[in-house]
Amino acid sequence: MAKIKMTTPLVEMDGDEMTRILWKMIKDELLLPFVDLKTEYYDLGLPEREKTKDKVTFDSAYATQKYGVAVKCATITPNKQRVEEYNLTEMWKSPNGTIRAILDGTVFRAPIIIDSIKPVVKNWKKPITIARHAYGDVYKASEIRVEELGKAELVFTDKNGKETRETIYDFECPGVLQGQYNKDSSITSFAHSCFKYAIDTKQSLWFSTKDTISKKYDQTFKLLFQDIYEKEYKAKFEELGIEYFYTLIDDAVARVIRSEGGYIWACKNYDGDVMSDMVSTAFGSLAMMTSVLVSPDGKYEYEAAHGTVTRHYYKYLKGEETSTNPMATIYAWSGALRKRGELDNLPELVNFADKLEGACIKTLDDGIMTKDLVGLVDEGFTATAVNSADFIKAIRERLEKALA
Ligand code: NAP
Ligand code: MG
Repeated sequence: MAKIKMTTPLVEMDGDEMTRILWKMIKDELLLPFVDLKTEYYDLGLPEREKTKDKVTFDSAYATQKYGVAVKCATITPNKQRVEEYNLTEMWKSPNGTIRAILDGTVFRAPIIIDSIKPVVKNWKKPITIARHAYGDVYKASEIRVEELGKAELVFTDKNGKETRETIYDFECPGVLQGQYNKDSSITSFAHSCFKYAIDTKQSLWFSTKDTISKKYDQTFKLLFQDIYEKEYKAKFEELGIEYFYTLIDDAVARVIRSEGGYIWACKNYDGDVMSDMVSTAFGSLAMMTSVLVSPDGKYEYEAAHGTVTRHYYKYLKGEETSTNPMATIYAWSGALRKRGELDNLPELVNFADKLEGACIKTLDDGIMTKDLVGLVDEGFTATAVNSADFIKAIRERLEKALA
């Protein structure tokens, strides 16, 4: 069989530890035999980041701006312990943070769903994708612990020295104070990424804040979203038969729980932090969560939501057998290849991505799973735990059949 051709390179960002091992296995077994893989390779593994003084991370983000689609392996975010372990000259910043800042993107997380593992919320039938605005609010707030009696004021001084004041509270006892901000430019980027991704995946977009209580702050989020929707995306949404729907955060929570899934839920920074953990836990496993960073101008970086699975890697180094789940990393590749195929008008590549995901689901439906999933399987289904290599081999057999 002739290998499937690509025209534009995919930006390939290699990573660390167990996911780096899986990365190579996935390429060797599931991609290279079938696709004439064209990638521009960036090694974001910690040793290479150290060697290049982290330049490689920046270069990989610029390459994503240039080519439009990237696929990323999980990477270590150094802490004190890693600085010692890898003998680092600096505690390099999180590559995900660096890439997100350069692309100004929003992260969308969605679970991979299979029949034999039912979500805790039993009416959820389709994935719920969470979009979190990863800028500002409480994460960039200034805080004061008030010990004395006194008046707290919010003061804004414009560039001409003119002050706008608002009394926050006249303290008659000790208390706490917090000042938060956000920027129209960041909220606008967030909105564009959300509307673009909704169109891209043909799913409705829900957005929630607390604008009834926060009449200027949250109201700004609501109005900017509404305005951008009306001006730039409404026609396309109507053509696709999807909707943009704004509601209060508490109403959204109630609706989400009662829903079937199958939409994108956009959240402010804090809401997204909390809700994405709730939704992913209710769907089952971190190893089955996919993640894609979408920039406001439509650049895509696909990855798994989980980390480098350090605990498994240390076992692997000792020569012990590991059963690490490669699903989310395989889906990062299939997502990126599909997007490349769509952009370059290569139906064969899109078809390959579909067949690859189909073969993964078929393997799980046949009861062949990694260890993490076997424990989650519902009554009435049987499953056998295999190691990562055997799991990938089982996917390959099914992929070959599907492509024949
Ligand atoms: P982790 O790598 O996500 O793993 C946490 C635990 O979740 C694992 O020990 C394992 O549980 C389970 N797990 C996660 N993915 C799995 C998979 N594919 N298959 C089977 N089990 C899986 O998180 P971490 O241990 O907190 O972080 C490790 C490193 O990853 C850190 O250096 C961190 O900086 C980095 N990290 C990177 C990213 C990223 O690049 N996007 C994201 C998060 C963390 P059991 O041990 O119980 O089997
Ligand atoms: Mg969190």
